[in-house]
Amino acid sequence: MSGNEIDGMICFFCKSHLKCDAKVCFSCNALVIYGATHEELTSSFKEAFGITIVISLLFVMFLPSWLSDHVSGDIIKLFHTWWMIVGCLVISLWAGFRARSATERSFEGQIRFSRRM
Ligand SMILES: [Zn+2]
Repeated sequence: MSGNEIDGMICFFCKSHLKCDAKVCFSCNALVIYGATHEELTSSFKEAFGITIVISLLFVMFLPSWLSDHVSGDIIKLFHTWWMIVGCLVISLWAGFRARSATERSFEGQIRFSRRM
């Protein structure tokens, strides 16, 4: 944590002096954001999850037909099981949580001010 938090902080918009744990600026009503917002975390999760689920499902859908041109046998059957769909979901969730924690880390210790109507 940064040292100037102990003395409080200055509002980005109105330059009022705020307490170090203030959630809103008493003077101009600006929101004080510590670290990443819930929206930022959710959107980074959704983005990574969405991309990964699309790519992995496409992979699962098209790989068996591609494989059938090149190899034959039980490998193809293996790809057609529901477990592959479950696997895609697991990978996508993992990618989502990874992206979420990466966003969390990148905003860690940061204090931002936001004015929302
Ligand atoms: Zn202010």
